[in-house]
Amino acid sequence: MATRALIGRLTGWSGPYPVGEGVYHHWDGYPTGLGALLFNLFRGEYKGNLEEMLKEIVDKHLGGWSDLAAGDCYCHPDEETADGFGDLQWASHLGCEWAYLFAVQDGRPMMVVARLLTELDNRGEMISREWWEAIATVPLDGEEPDWKAIETAGYERYATVHGGIVAVEASENRVGSSGEESESEKPSTARNQVAHRGRGGRGQPGQRGKANRGTARYRS
Ligand SMILES: [Zn+2]
Repeated sequence: MATRALIGRLTGWSGPYPVGEGVYHHWDGYPTGLGALLFNLFRGEYKGNLEEMLKEIVDKHLGGWSDLAAGDCYCHPDEETADGFGDLQWASHLGCEWAYLFAVQDGRPMMVVARLLTELDNRGEMISREWWEAIATVPLDGEEPDWKAIETAGYERYATVHGGIVAVEASENRVGSSGEESESEKPSTARNQVAHRGRGGRGQPGQRGKANRGTARYRS
């Protein structure tokens, strides 16, 4: 499944965007996929050497990855690296949902797992605001975390933020939606979230198909 993500070396934040060297990753970018893979690459193949890992995964493949697990990048063997690749802030605009941001904090290697959150306008059509939010900060020298729990927390946070926008469509589509309680019996926020999930909201951002990086870069 195409779930887009960022992998990068976090040096700071610029408003809602992470700053540092980073690359795009196309497939299986959710925590149980790419998050777990990165954690285990750090512990296994790279033997706890964070700089070595970032050099190999980020600096040497600035074109980004189709699938890191398969060793399939966009820049080799043809070296088609485009201008602007390799920058976390820029790559944030490629429709990424998750980010894996590495930094050393108090001498410990850490991986911040962040989720891109968006607010839509009141018609639910245009993004009026977007920002990255840390869902978990994982010490890489500690126990392996529960990736499923992190993933669920991220999707739940996304659904909560998006709860308000679905009110428009939920009320328009009220006829025929079975099992929904009447408007007076339920608080509006809870109803909106349920309606949102019913539409398959959590899968929606990842279902836009193969990345079209040529147009996506001009999107925002
Ligand atoms: Zn490459």
